Amino acid sequence: MKANKAYKFRMYPDTEQKTAFARTFGCVRFVYNRLLADKIAHYQATGEMLRNTPAPLKKEFDWLRDVDSLALANAQIQLQTAYNNFFRDQSIGFPKYRSKKSGRKSYTTNNQGGTVRIENGKLRLPKVGFVRIKLHRAIPDDYIIKSVTVSQEASGKYYASILTEYEYEPNDTAVTKDNALGLDYSSPHFYVDSEGNTADMPHFYRKAEKKLAREQRRLARMVKGSANYRKQKIKVARAYEKVRFCRKDWQHKESTRLAEYYDVIAVEDIDYKSMARGLRLAKATNDNGFGQFRTMLTYKLAERGKKLVTIDKWFPSTKTCHLCGYVNPNIVLGQSEWDCPHCGAHLLRDRNAAINIKNQGIAMLA
Ligand SMILES: [Zn+2]
Repeated sequence: MKANKAYKFRMYPDTEQKTAFARTFGCVRFVYNRLLADKIAHYQATGEMLRNTPAPLKKEFDWLRDVDSLALANAQIQLQTAYNNFFRDQSIGFPKYRSKKSGRKSYTTNNQGGTVRIENGKLRLPKVGFVRIKLHRAIPDDYIIKSVTVSQEASGKYYASILTEYEYEPNDTAVTKDNALGLDYSSPHFYVDSEGNTADMPHFYRKAEKKLAREQRRLARMVKGSANYRKQKIKVARAYEKVRFCRKDWQHKESTRLAEYYDVIAVEDIDYKSMARGLRLAKATNDNGFGQFRTMLTYKLAERGKKLVTIDKWFPSTKTCHLCGYVNPNIVLGQSEWDCPHCGAHLLRDRNAAINIKNQGIAMLA
């Protein structure tokens, strides 16, 4: 079986190499923004997705040919991924333009038969040559370099994130960390997962909840102890039963689906968060049952030789930027999105939390 591992090293480029990096960052941003502008124009005119590539741009702007062509190709792939996400869920919004000031300075290139390699403490990069790096950790000889992301932080420091691939012997369980999912409890959606999907309960189940609320209101208006009150009480009890049944039925289907598909699922410990949020809403219909859902997941995964990982409730899943690891103390309850002050990434709160939960779950397995 194959698995990936990433290594991050500090780089010390010379003046010429710094210039090459700056030029590549600029070209990548230019290509990304141009392709995005064309996509937006096409979408506004036709309502459809445009699949475009940097090739025509390279004809029009021949200085683009001076930089690593794979960096430009990867910019296109990143944009296409963001754009596909938009078409899958338009509430995400269009991908954003990359700004020169606040945007991340980075590009990704691929190894093509040794074009990226480490030799004598230096990292070879296409079009740049051998750059001095601080190799604080050795990459095993049998690990193959797939790609490298060159970045410059706001501090001015340069880094290389090297993605490697290696072979391993699978053990007798079905668990592979590659196929992991993080779930963040979300009051309106039940959960948001690390891939950005929400588990919205179907309308059918919501109807049962609405009916319950209605019957409950009726009961509240009746004279306690009267014949009507007693009849209504039975009605309410039945409505409760129906809600419980519907919710459980839906949770069974949903947990089976996830347990079939994923090898590792990470969730937060106890219902601490869901309780805190749930208590702010109506209590009766909002005991949400996320704990019950998690129990279902636990045994359904176990039956399949898979694993549910629970994350410590104090792990700051909501406040941590999943891209750079910065912990933002200024996130308040109910804030649905935020910009990372460190790397500038725009983060959707629930999805970012779910990704952190997933990553933490994978780390805990190791
Ligand atoms: Zn960040």
